[in-house]
Amino acid sequence: MSTDGLTEKKLEQLSKLYRDIVPASPETESFYLEILVSCEGNLEAAVELINDSLGVQRTSETDILCAKGKHEDEAVSPAPKVQKSLNSFIKDPNNKIKSVSEGSLGKISNRAIELFTKEDIETNIKYVSVHKNVLPELLANSLLKKLSQDNDSFTPNQFYLFGKKCTSNHLTKMFSSSEEISAGNIRIYYNSYSLSRIAQYDDDLKMAQLLIEDLVNDCIAQRDLLPYQIRSPNWKGDVVLVNRYYKESNLDWHSDKMTSIGPQPIIASLSLGCSREFRVRKNYPSNSQIYIIRPPHNTLVIMHAGFQEEYRHCVHGHSKNSPLKPHPISGHVRINLTYRCYLRKFLDRCPKCKKCGSPMDLRRAFKDPKTRGQYIWQCSKSYTGQECGGVIRAKFDNDSLTVQNFDEEGSRWLAPDDQEAHSAQDLN
Ligand SMILES: [Zn+2]
Repeated sequence: MSTDGLTEKKLEQLSKLYRDIVPASPETESFYLEILVSCEGNLEAAVELINDSLGVQRTSETDILCAKGKHEDEAVSPAPKVQKSLNSFIKDPNNKIKSVSEGSLGKISNRAIELFTKEDIETNIKYVSVHKNVLPELLANSLLKKLSQDNDSFTPNQFYLFGKKCTSNHLTKMFSSSEEISAGNIRIYYNSYSLSRIAQYDDDLKMAQLLIEDLVNDCIAQRDLLPYQIRSPNWKGDVVLVNRYYKESNLDWHSDKMTSIGPQPIIASLSLGCSREFRVRKNYPSNSQIYIIRPPHNTLVIMHAGFQEEYRHCVHGHSKNSPLKPHPISGHVRINLTYRCYLRKFLDRCPKCKKCGSPMDLRRAFKDPKTRGQYIWQCSKSYTGQECGGVIRAKFDNDSLTVQNFDEEGSRWLAPDDQEAHSAQDLN
């Protein structure tokens, strides 16, 4: 969208509509422009979003006197507000916006809340960082072009859900720069399937690997470390799972399996092409707030240590109300490069189920606050449609990665801000 005369008019209207709350300034204007761009220039949609953030109910035709009266009514019961970056433009402290996470009694909106700026995303979703324009433009475009047109061995995922065999509606291909992995000497399991065909990195993928490794390791060095996570500069991007999403593709709520990447993994997800809704919510409570982020072309979302334990995510199917905006190179196709740092120890020593001999999957218990935090290995047979129920506590400093006897305490981790579990386990 260019800043043509029409856009200027819309910016002027927005500025006029909210000037009693948000004083006009060049910074305010660029903020409105950011919102307008994310709404693809649709003024009504932008107004609706800003209304949500400010807890007011205005329309693009409302004149300012009427708007003022309305705002005073609304001030009695403000809606959940999260667009904290608006705060820097609001002088009156009574009009400042509170984040949901720090808000009154952790009030949860029954509507998904869209987060636009890096600050809003990183404040509201713990263990996530967002990085726009991570690759040089030519490299990002070249990767997008190749990966959206590559017709060699992009295949749907197969998985089991409640005993039923399902096929994903997006396509997947794995690449690696490690000779041992692409030669099949080290087997990579994904959704309990051994991936036998792993393609080699080309020059573009190698360049992307180096840039992303540097960025991720820099981020690790700047953040608080969790006990089991990998340290900088050891995070590697030598294996990438490339997902190709079409207009009708989606991916249900899930956390990524930690089986081959260990506890507190760091997963870097690069979005190329068409921008899709990535939704995020905490694993508990069951009605946790849903957040939407829409990473534009060439944006890296890093899911840091703790994210897979505490949060789940999905790629939301798009609705008729919000049609996808085609990307000039890939149209409605979104390419997602997911870098997971596979750990040799976990690939080689993944325990087998004592009851049936199947490989086991690593997860962390979270449902019951009394037992939350315990890492467990669970028989993967249930994913192939049969129930086994085999389970054993994980212990990461053991060679077997499991406890040696039944009553031994295994490895566990609770989020420091998880008051509910700390109280239930008498850890306060
Ligand atoms: Zn089993």
